[in-house]
Amino acid sequence: MMTSNTDIIIQYILRFMVGGRVSDYLSRLVGYTADISSFSKYKLVIVRSDFFEKEIYGTAKSNPIMPLKNIAGVPFLFGTPEIERAGDTIVVHADLVASAYFLLSRYEELIRPDIRDEHGRFPGRESLPYRAGFIDRPVVDEYGKLIRKLLRENGVIYTAEPSPFIQKINLTHDVDAPFRCRTWRNVARQVLSGNQTLIGAIRNKYGQPESDAYYTFPWILQQNKILQHKLGENRCRSFLFFKSGGKTKQDKPRYDLNGMDINTLFRLCREQEATVGLHSSYHSGMNPSLIAAEKTILENAWGEEVKHNRHHFLTSREPEDMEYLEKAGITDDYTMGYADVAGFRLGTSLPVRFINPATQRLTTLSLHSLTIMDGTLNGLKYMNLTIDKAEEYCIKLIDNVKNVNGELTLLWHNTSVIENEGYLRELYSKLIKHLG
Ligand SMILES: [Zn+2]
Repeated sequence: MMTSNTDIIIQYILRFMVGGRVSDYLSRLVGYTADISSFSKYKLVIVRSDFFEKEIYGTAKSNPIMPLKNIAGVPFLFGTPEIERAGDTIVVHADLVASAYFLLSRYEELIRPDIRDEHGRFPGRESLPYRAGFIDRPVVDEYGKLIRKLLRENGVIYTAEPSPFIQKINLTHDVDAPFRCRTWRNVARQVLSGNQTLIGAIRNKYGQPESDAYYTFPWILQQNKILQHKLGENRCRSFLFFKSGGKTKQDKPRYDLNGMDINTLFRLCREQEATVGLHSSYHSGMNPSLIAAEKTILENAWGEEVKHNRHHFLTSREPEDMEYLEKAGITDDYTMGYADVAGFRLGTSLPVRFINPATQRLTTLSLHSLTIMDGTLNGLKYMNLTIDKAEEYCIKLIDNVKNVNGELTLLWHNTSVIENEGYLRELYSKLIKHLG
C-alpha cells in the first residue's frame, strides 16, 4: 500500500511528540484512528477528528472552535477533552495530532492569506496561540509530555521525565548595520543629520572598527562566552547572520562583505567560534528565488559553506516559501518568531522539520523557533514593555522551555546593546546570568 504524504506527516508528528531516542518504537504503540475496532492494537489511541478529511482540510470548517478546551491543563484545538480506558488501551479524545499539525505547519497562515502586516508577515497578535492566550507556551511539547505520561501509566515507558533543563541555547545576532560610520556615504549622512561633526565622522571612518559605536560584537561574543563556558560549546552556540543582497530600502545599509571591516568581523567569528549564517534580504522575503544567489555571495566572502538562515525583518511571508531555503541548501532556519509578540510561533520549542501545509510535504529543513527578539520587547508598536516587565516575560518563556526540555533561541542586535541607549544591553547581561 502506498503511504500518502498525510500518513508520513502523521507518523512524523507522533515521533516528534513522543520524542527521545526510541521514539520510532514508542510511536508505533500509539494509534491515530477513529476506528473503535482497531483500538485494541495500541497502548494509546489518539482519536482522529475530521481535520485531515478532503472536504474539511483547507476550508473554513477546519478552524478550531473558540474558546479552546483544555486537556490536563493544556489547550488543544480539535476533539474533546476526555481520556478513557478501553481494555488495555488508553483512549485520548483530544486530537493532539491535528492540533500539533495546525501549529507546526503554520496552517493558519495558509488559510488566512489576507491577514498580513505592512511587511507581508502574518501578525502574531492575529494568531490563534495569541488570541487563545498560549503564545507563551510550547503546547506541542506539552502534548508530548502528556503522551509520555499516559504511556508510562500504561507500563510502556519505565523512565521518569528528566528534570527541567534547557537542551540547547542559540545566541543569535543579525548583522543589519555593523557600523555607524565607515564609508563616505555614512560620513555624509552623519554630518547632514547632525549626529556627528565632520571631523568626528572622518575620525570615525579612519579609526579601528572597534571604535565605531555600532561595533558591539566583541562585547556580545564575550557575554556569550560566559554562558558557553558554563554550559559547554555543544549546548550553547553563537550565530551571526550576514546580509549579502537585496535591493529594497529595508535592505539598507548595504556593507561590503569583501572589505576590511567585515573581514575584521569574520576574523572575530572565527576566533570566537561563532557560526556564520545568511541573513536573507527583505527583497528575498518578497521573492524567495533570490535566496540561493545570496547564499552563494556570502559563501564566497566567508570562504565556507553556509547552512543556517534567518530572514531580515523576519519576512518569510508564506509558509510555502520555506521550500526555497531547502532548495538553496539551507539546513536550519531561525526565522520563526513573530516580530510583534515573543513566544512560540510554531507551538514548539524544539527544532522541527518544516511541513508544507499547502502540499503536505515533510521537508528536510529544520526550523528553530525564535523565542525572543530584542526589539519585540521594547518596540513601541510591539510589546512596549519596561525592563522589569520584559525580564519577567523572558523568564516566563525560559521557564516554559525548561519544563519541556526544549531549545531556546535569542536574537539580540549589535545596535541594541550600545551603551546608555535603552535597556536591552542590561537585559541581555541579566538573561545570560540567569541562564548560566
Ligand atoms: Zn535584519
